[in-house]
Amino acid sequence: MNNARELQALYRETVLEHSRNPRNFQRLTPADRVVVGHNPLCGDKITLYLRLDNNRIENLAFEGTGCAISMASASIMTESVKHHDLDEAQHEIARIMHQFDSTNPDDATVEGDMAALGGVRAFPSRIKCATLAWKTLEAALQENTQTTTTEK
Ligand code: ZN
Repeated sequence: MNNARELQALYRETVLEHSRNPRNFQRLTPADRVVVGHNPLCGDKITLYLRLDNNRIENLAFEGTGCAISMASASIMTESVKHHDLDEAQHEIARIMHQFDSTNPDDATVEGDMAALGGVRAFPSRIKCATLAWKTLEAALQENTQTTTTEK
């Protein structure tokens, strides 16, 4: 029995499951923030809708098209930060961006809900697929309502 391989298979299942049945996949109206995120290298595009209640994310949802990694990441992201304070969400974004930074040899693993996507660290071109939803959330929190691109 190969535990590493089993874990990899489990992660693959998680990613496929989320990409086939993305959570919070809908248009949210009304929304306080609507931001479009685009990863031109892969063609991933998501529209993120945020509804705020003071300093809290009351609800969020997304629509979009793209590869399984980008869709799974967006699905997991919405589940991770829903009902969280903006400060918490900001910390979570920083944590994810740091863990997916392949130039960080110290952080060889991705922890938490996004662990299933940690395998992309070995494929720099796919890291942007995994972080697109988080960059888009960051833009939404910063009230940057222009289209956000991974190519900046
Ligand atoms: Zn992609």
